[in-house]
Amino acid sequence: MAKQGVKRRGQRQVGDISGNGRPTDLGVLQSLVTEMLLALGEKPGRNGLLKTPERVAKALAFMTQGYHRDIDHLLNGALFPIEYDEMVIVKDIDFFSMCEHHLLPFYGRVHVGYLPNKKVVGLSKIPRIVDTFARRLQVQERLTVQIAETLKSKLNAHGVGVVVEARHLCMMMRGVEKQNTLAVTSSMLGAFRSQPQTRLEFLKLIRRGSVGDSD
Ligand SMILES: [Zn+2]
Repeated sequence: MAKQGVKRRGQRQVGDISGNGRPTDLGVLQSLVTEMLLALGEKPGRNGLLKTPERVAKALAFMTQGYHRDIDHLLNGALFPIEYDEMVIVKDIDFFSMCEHHLLPFYGRVHVGYLPNKKVVGLSKIPRIVDTFARRLQVQERLTVQIAETLKSKLNAHGVGVVVEARHLCMMMRGVEKQNTLAVTSSMLGAFRSQPQTRLEFLKLIRRGSVGDSD
């Protein structure tokens, strides 16, 4: 079956990138899950569900741990001065997030490119920036813009491009029930926005097969 594409342009809604600073309240989450099971007509006391509230609370805390990560702390000591001024690309970064409208997962890949301005960031930090924003309640557009704006401002880069391709369980399991729809969002800043050839080079490089592929 052909892939259906939904292209959405990144809106410039960055939101609050600093997280919320409050610890996750596991106790409250657990009792809410018990109430939810009751509301669904289940019996929270039956064997299979006995530990479910605790498990769900822990899983939710894990999947939203990005609220407690600090970008400056993450980047501390990971920015290096350099004369290199060619495009840096990190592509096919897997991510898992949760849509804030249905609390259902959306997941896929992020591709990041930037043009350094006298400094670069350790490559391993880019997937960690992606995780920090992905592990919060999100919409795909805002996730895309937050990654791009953060790299642009923390690196003072000449330009940043971010493309996010994702499948949303809220579209696949309910609603329109489109199993093969890939939602694509992008955010292009600085030279990636103003110079078509820079943007094209980035888009061409992220579309090329992986190292070791035959194409
Ligand atoms: Zn949703």
